[in-house]
Amino acid sequence: MPKWAHHREVARKLGLNLPQRVMDEVDSIMDGMVGGLQHDFWRDDLDRLKGVLLELKAKHGEEAVRYALLHILLDEAEVHVSSELSKDRRLKLGPLESARLGVLTAIGLLEYLHEKIGFAEDVEWLLGRVDVEWLAEYLMSMGEVASRVEAMDGFKARTKLFRQLALKYIHRHNLHSIFIPELIRFMHKLCSYKGGLREEHARSVLRKYEEGATRGLAAEAANRLRAALKEIVEDWLAGRLPCQEVAPPQ
Ligand SMILES: [Zn+2]
Repeated sequence: MPKWAHHREVARKLGLNLPQRVMDEVDSIMDGMVGGLQHDFWRDDLDRLKGVLLELKAKHGEEAVRYALLHILLDEAEVHVSSELSKDRRLKLGPLESARLGVLTAIGLLEYLHEKIGFAEDVEWLLGRVDVEWLAEYLMSMGEVASRVEAMDGFKARTKLFRQLALKYIHRHNLHSIFIPELIRFMHKLCSYKGGLREEHARSVLRKYEEGATRGLAAEAANRLRAALKEIVEDWLAGRLPCQEVAPPQ
């Protein structure tokens, strides 16, 4: 989520004039900090979103709805711009064009929302005022986008290494290759260690994955998968998983 200061700045630029306290209220609701809603609830609960927008409209009028839609647009644009900037096609497109593509993807989501929950006038108002090029450049200049891109680059590079390792475990434990994604996720999860006892972290990750991954498997296959997970844990504890030492691709 971009810092709210960014939402305010873009809102001003678009000509939305809401009192500070109303913008605070809208941003807190959209980020799930009040009203018993989940963070980014609007991503997977359209009925809830519709209810929230209707309430905002009744309480604060049209502008509050538009500000809420802008919040969605900016949060989505941040995600998609970052993702485009870390895809290989950015090398062909160039950074600005990639960022534009990210903004357009976010705009597509708003169009989808309006198809599902209405508020056509407000969506049209917003999309009629957004300057795609300007917003793309604005997002590219955000520190949040830069650090997201960095994290994704590191994640992708590590995933490549983990895939090679996963193949090794698959062969050694005679597992079906459908388990490759699960093993990769397991390695990422181990590497997400943030401090505390390493053994404790390993145990809790293992417990969670053993249950989920072996569900529905025949006993023998489940045992082989368990053995592979245990070996991965041992390798991680011994510092043999490449959790850190990946330079972002150029
Ligand atoms: Zn947000």
